[in-house]
Amino acid sequence: MPLNNKTKFKLILGLGNKDIKSALEVALLYAKAGVRFFDASPEILPELSKGLIKLGFNRDDFTLCASAPILGDIHGRKAFISESICSGCSLCMKNCPEDAVYKNKKSGKYEIDSKKCIGCSACKKITNCYAISFEYSNGEINSLKKLIDEGFKIDMAELHASISDKKQIIKDFKDILTFFRGDISVCINRRQFPLDDTVKLLKELKRLHSVSNTQNSDNSSEFYVQADGASMNGGDSSDDSTLECVLFAKELAPYGFNLIVSGGTNNNTPKILNDIMSEDDEYNMPVIAYGTYARKLISGLPPKEALIKAKVLFEETENYDRYDRRDSTVSIG
Ligand code: SF4
Ligand code: SF4
Repeated sequence: MPLNNKTKFKLILGLGNKDIKSALEVALLYAKAGVRFFDASPEILPELSKGLIKLGFNRDDFTLCASAPILGDIHGRKAFISESICSGCSLCMKNCPEDAVYKNKKSGKYEIDSKKCIGCSACKKITNCYAISFEYSNGEINSLKKLIDEGFKIDMAELHASISDKKQIIKDFKDILTFFRGDISVCINRRQFPLDDTVKLLKELKRLHSVSNTQNSDNSSEFYVQADGASMNGGDSSDDSTLECVLFAKELAPYGFNLIVSGGTNNNTPKILNDIMSEDDEYNMPVIAYGTYARKLISGLPPKEALIKAKVLFEETENYDRYDRRDSTVSIG
């Protein structure tokens, strides 16, 4: 289903996460809790869609967002361990939120499962380990195109655009517009450019999307901005991890963008949004996207307990907006 402000909760399964089994487990549990808006790498969307339909949903009941990075955006990177430098301290394995680091039973060396690695850098930050390095890719843009060519239905495409090259952002955005019709979101953080430059760039991208809509006689697709905070920060419950994205959203609100907040979101985000957004911002009250936090919240719990936790987060999110004027008769279930 097109988004059209029907839900405030987006579940991010991790652009870098290609481990279908674990992504599906998380998605289906949150679907049972009420979530209908899922964001993942294009490579896993077909299996995710099949899983949701098997669970009893119709395809129009849920919104699928395909995420793809511009080359250089941290969402498109993978960590690697240099065998010759690694001392085998195991700290990276203990601190990886995705269980992507493992000890090779044969060689005894630490390695990273690139299917699971989301590029969050928690492994490197913990010790500033010189044995860990990153490789960047933007292969998901081609995967997105391939899915569209195959006729797979994607409701929203999200371009991760936190790089310092504005021309490249515009070029990749234009490329996506040549083959994708639907809602488009641009995920960008506050650190790349001064606010005026960011707004100017986003207005240009919104204009390009609008021109594309007109050329394709599409009057229902929307342009979204995902205000990103500390991406993939490990999902703690601190206020500072969520303030960055909330304040960025607040800065963008006067410009009339449809907003999503992500990066550092947690159980405090709905309340902080309520506290910080004013009545004047009501039209643009954002969707909240949960990634690492949502996954960590249910990790290792028995299914019943995990479902209760997921339901609480979902309900707190859907009910957070005291200024909401969106159509209350719209059902998300
Ligand atoms: S933190 Fe660095 S040194 Fe320690 S096991 Fe991981 S890669 Fe090796
Ligand atoms: S901590 Fe993050 S970057 Fe490091 S291996 Fe795990 S997922 Fe990849």
